[in-house]
This record gives sequence, structure tokens and C-alpha cells, in this order.
Amino acid sequence: MSSQRSAAIRSIATKRPVPIANDSRRQLPELFGANVFGLDQMRSRLPESAYAALRSCMELGSELDTALADQVATAMKEWAVERGATHFTHWFQPMTGSTAEKHDSFANVEDGRLLMEFNGKSLIKGEPDASSFPSGGLRATFEARGYTAWDPTSPAFVRETTNGVTLCIPTAYCSWTGEALDEKTPLLRSADALNRAAVRLLRLLGDERVRFVYPTLGCEQEYFLLDRDLYMLRPDLIATGRTLFGAKPPKGQELEDHYFGSIQPRVLAFMQESEFELWKLGVPIKTRHNEVAPSQYEVAPIFERTTVAADHNMLCMEVLKQVAQRHGFQCLLHEKPYAGINGSGKHNNWSMSTDTGENLLEPGQSPDQNMRFIVLLAAILRAVDLHADLLRVTIAHAGNDHRLGANEAPPAILSVYLGEQLMDVVEGIVAGTGKGSERRREQMQLGVGVLPPLPRDATDRNRTSPFAFTGNKFEFRAVGSSQGVAKPNAILNTIVADTLNYTSDQIEKLKASKGLEGAVNEVVAELFKAHQRVVFNGNGYSEEWHAEAERRGLPNFRNAVDAIAQFHAAKNVELFERNGVLSAKETASRTSIMYGSYCKTLAIEAQSALSIARTMVLPAAQKSQHAYAQSIAATKALGIEAKAQERRLHQVTARIEALIDDIDRLHTEFDRAESFDGDAAAHAVLYRDNVAPAMNRLREQADVLETMADDSHWPLAKYREMLFLL
Ligand code: ADP
Ligand code: MG
Repeated sequence: MSSQRSAAIRSIATKRPVPIANDSRRQLPELFGANVFGLDQMRSRLPESAYAALRSCMELGSELDTALADQVATAMKEWAVERGATHFTHWFQPMTGSTAEKHDSFANVEDGRLLMEFNGKSLIKGEPDASSFPSGGLRATFEARGYTAWDPTSPAFVRETTNGVTLCIPTAYCSWTGEALDEKTPLLRSADALNRAAVRLLRLLGDERVRFVYPTLGCEQEYFLLDRDLYMLRPDLIATGRTLFGAKPPKGQELEDHYFGSIQPRVLAFMQESEFELWKLGVPIKTRHNEVAPSQYEVAPIFERTTVAADHNMLCMEVLKQVAQRHGFQCLLHEKPYAGINGSGKHNNWSMSTDTGENLLEPGQSPDQNMRFIVLLAAILRAVDLHADLLRVTIAHAGNDHRLGANEAPPAILSVYLGEQLMDVVEGIVAGTGKGSERRREQMQLGVGVLPPLPRDATDRNRTSPFAFTGNKFEFRAVGSSQGVAKPNAILNTIVADTLNYTSDQIEKLKASKGLEGAVNEVVAELFKAHQRVVFNGNGYSEEWHAEAERRGLPNFRNAVDAIAQFHAAKNVELFERNGVLSAKETASRTSIMYGSYCKTLAIEAQSALSIARTMVLPAAQKSQHAYAQSIAATKALGIEAKAQERRLHQVTARIEALIDDIDRLHTEFDRAESFDGDAAAHAVLYRDNVAPAMNRLREQADVLETMADDSHWPLAKYREMLFLL
């Protein structure tokens, strides 16, 4: 074994679970939210009227006025300083896929004395010099400044790190001309659009109590752990987050013994510390378990308001990565760290709640509740059917391409799983308006109390559906593990808001002539009839479904590049504008950022692959080749035949020759793609159609050589080590 690999393995053998640093072992209720400037803190530190005003801003997501901002800033600073904070930062989500922060201390010097100061202006607005964030052409470098503005729906928190404490203020990030430069702003706008559309529809259906509606989100986060000493031997993982080489190990996931298996002590210690950290930050972590692939795990929180849950998922990913290092692990969030083994996703559980505490997707007991539920269901089917292309774009990135459509994650075709009982209801409603049986027609009349009870379908474990109704929420299962959830949820909220408005329009038109119930019945039946084609309850992995989906006319964008092209289609630009979520300019800028990020990801992968193949794989293979040659020569010198060894030498040599050809081919393709000077879409196509296949081919050669080369010459940590040595 190579000396570096064997040193890494020796060190792993002696590693023990790492105890929590500064463990005060507080009780969970006391620990939870200890580092958050939450409602309790606000109530106890603010005058009553200020507290009430702030609460209302938080509920509605509206801006704070300057006087209130000053009061809140002072209270927040005092609280943070008591916890040891010296700095504050606006914490935002530029369009890089991660979070950004720029720290400033509270220090101000007056007459030679240092004062800790923080005012309303710094709370509600920050000005990062942001010339290096992607803006998709929205902002030239000479007008680089943007501003960040506190999102009052998401509370401030302090982060404790080894040598200090920092106050973090979740913010949205815009250019001075008001264009969104981040993922949070469209999410906030979409929540607003959804609120308006949902309240309007509820009023129309006779609900006078609900004041506002907000989307809710719980995301189940999958990830891999890998010992850091082995990680350090993988330049591909370090640069790209996934292995670009690696022969299939003798044991993978075929025994299915990892899923829900007992959690290894070192891993459990890591999970416990990351949960400890997350609870302090107010992230309501609920579930932990081993996932399907070896060394794959999942963590899931209790659902929250989407704007908060999206921030919390970013925090969750950050904390997992940081705590993993303390435990001698590397946390891999990439969608496909290992070929041939399940990748990681992030199930995006989505619903809508009211300020009166009701889940709008809970079927409910009363006729009123059922009517509301069925109307919303019909509207959501329409949303997914009309805008499957957009949902597909929200999960389109280079990493997810390795996963979607493979037999482990939902296909790239967006369909909705409803389950049998609900499907019966839908079919009944459709039949009821047509030639369907009288019995069904009666049964399915809405709002008259005879809708069949809709028990939660406990049997729904149709893991093959990308968008499944799971009893009282929808689970969007095609989201990638590494991506932020702001984008998918912004789109989800928008398409649902739009279709709720459409539904209200239709009901309003018919109401005068048919009465509310008649109008609702007719509209719902029409919606179901028109959009039933998007419902699919069978096996989404099957080939029959691909054929069937094509017959139904459902779009199938097989890869990120095809999907991204849909984003700025005229219908989508209009949709975003109509709902006040993105302007045409913003939509265009996002399209170009998505293409850019796809190309950059593949460029980094191609360069990593080239460098590893040239400087690690090839020399290791040549050493083995040389050893064969020497051994054969020495054997023959003694007059002994070495036919089998000669055969091997021929094979190794042929592979090495092919490897060099494949290196050169990838080099040529990469150079061509890199120097391409055309439009963004064509650029991405070059990477997809020329660079990616050349990379795959190179990998195939290298992986065969890994199985032939002397183990002691092989410099890259092997799959069997990375997946099983923890
Ligand atoms: P599983 O899907 O594994 O059976 P659950 O259905 O209990 O697990 O929940 C999965 C995730 O869905 C959790 O994060 C949970 O909080 C979230 N969830 C449950 N109800 C809602 C809801 N109304 N809105 C959004 N997310 C929800
Ligand atoms: Mg689930």
C-alpha cells in the first residue's frame, strides 16, 4: 500500500469518538435557540410597543422603520455582546450556492476610548463591496456595491467559534437599482405572492379568519462522511466534491446493511455535536439515521416557515461540514461523491400554513376543510403540470445530473404522486362532470359533507415519484443534497401562487350564475380534467413510465443544460413578472449564472481529472508496467518462460497507451470548450457533449488500471477504504 495511504489507515485505526468541546450538557429545552435573538429575547429586552411592532414586521416580512430599527439594534447588540460577540455580519446567500459574510466589529473609537456600537442603520442595511459575486450581467464592476437588508422573518443569531463570537443577521442582497442578487430575495417575494393569492382564494371560499398564509418547509438532508486523512489523498474530492476516479469496490451497498443500521460510535459522536450546535442556533433537528449507501447519513429538522427553514438548511450544511472536521471527518454534500453507489438528495417537504395554525394541505374533517383541500390540490396539480419545466430548472445543476434519472433518484420527468385514495377522488370528480356513474357523481360533490374521508396514506413510500403527496404536504424529492433550497421553494411558491390566482379568477367568473359551490365544483373538475395527466402513481424508474410520459406529452429534460434553457422562456418570464418575483432582467441574469456555473463546474472537474491522470494515475501504472517488464526480463534471463506475465504486460501497456490517448483527448476537448467564445447555452452544450464524455472515458481507463496496478503504488485512496474506514 502506498505509504501515505497506509499512514492514513493506521491513523484511522486508533481514532476514537471525539467528545463535545466545552460540553455543558444542558437540557435540550434550555439549549434550543440559546444562540438566537428570538421572541423571548425581544420581549424581555424591548419596550412593549416596539416588541409588538417588530412582531408584526416579522410576521409579514415588512421593513422596519428607522426608529424601531435603532431600538432593535441596541437590544440585539447588548444581547450579543453579553454572549461574547465582538463582531456582526450580514449573512446572505449570493448566487454562488453558498452563504457569504463580511464581518465588522462593533468597535467605534471616541476620544481615544473604544465603544461597542451598533445602530439601526447597520442592522437593516449593509453595503458589502460585492464586485466578485456573480450577477449575471446585472452589475458592472464599477458599480459594484450592493446592499444587504435584514429579513425580519429570520431571526439573528450568534455563532461561537474557537476564538470568538459573531452576531449574524440573515439578510437579502440587492443591487442599488433594486435587482435581486441573491437567492433569498425571490424567496421572500414568492412567499409574499403566495400569501396574497392564498388569502384571496380563502376569502372567496368564505374564510374570514385567516389573515395570512405562509409556505412551510422541512428538508431532509443526506450526506456522506469520509475520514479526513483519506480525503486528503483525494485531490478530486477536494477540488470538486466528488471522486473523478475509483474502481468499484468488492463490497458496495448490495447487502443493504447500512440503511437504518446501528450508528458507528465516531459517527454518532459527530452527529450529536452537530445537533448540539444546530439546536443552539434554533434549528429544530429531529431525525438522524444511516442512509442506503455505506457511510451515507441523513439529518432532518421539524418543518418551519420556508424563509427560516431555507436559512436553517444553509446553517445545517455549514455546521455539518465544520463539526465533521473536528471529528476527523470530511462531510460530502455533493449529489454523487461515488460512482456506482447511491447519491444524496434533499427531500423538500412543502406545505402552506395559516396564521390561525392550520396546515392547508391537511384534508381535514369538515366539508369546508375538504372543499378547501380539494381546490388547493387541483390548483397545485395545475401548477406542476403547467410549470414542470420550471420545477425541473430549480434542480438543474451539474451535480444533480449524476443522480436524476439514474435508478436511485426520481426521474427528470416531473409527475405527481397522489396515492390510490386521492386518485379515486380525482377520478370521481372528473367522471362526475362527464359520463361517469351516478354513484360517483354523488359521492364526489364538494362542500356537502359526503367527500370520502381522506386518511393519511401511510403506505406512501413511492420513493420513485419526484413530487409526492404524503398525507398533508408535498415532498419534492428531486432536489440535490448540495443545493440551497431557496430557489426550488421560490419557484414552487410562485407557480402555486399564480395558479391560486387563476383558480380564484375562474371561481369568481362562475359564482354569480352558479353559486359558490357550483362554481367550485365546476372549476375543480375542469382543473383535474385538464391536468390529471401529471399524476402518476406507479414506478417512476420504469421504462414504461418514460414511454407513457412521452405519450402524455410531459416534458423530460434529461440534463441540466436542457433544463436551464427553459428558464427564460416567454411564459416563465411573464409568470415571474406577473407575480412580482423576478423581473425579465433578473430572469435573464439567473439563466446566464446557471449556464456559467455549469461550465465552471465541468471545467474544474476536467482540469482535476487531467492533473490526477497525468501525475498520479499514469506514473503509478507505469511503475507496475516497469515491474512486469523487469520481472519478465529477469525470468527469461534464467531461461524460464513467462508467457502469462508477458500477456499481463501487454494488457497493462495497452491500457496505459489508451490512458495517454484519453488524457490527450480530454485535453483537446477541454481547450476547445475553454476557448469557446459563443453564447452561454452553446458553451454549456460543449461541456456536456464533449468534455463530460471525454472525462468518463478517461475514468474508465484509469479505473481498470487501478485494478491492475500494484496496490503499493496506488496514490489515491480507494473506494473500499473511503466507504468503509470510519
Ligand atoms: P418521512 O417522510 O420520513 O416519513 P415525515 O413525513 O415525518 O418523515 O417528515 C419529513 C419532513 O417533512 C420533516 O422535516 C417534517 O418536519 C416535514 N414536514 C412535516 N409536515 C410538514 C408540513 N406541513 N410542511 C412542511 N414540511 C413538513
Ligand atoms: Mg420523507
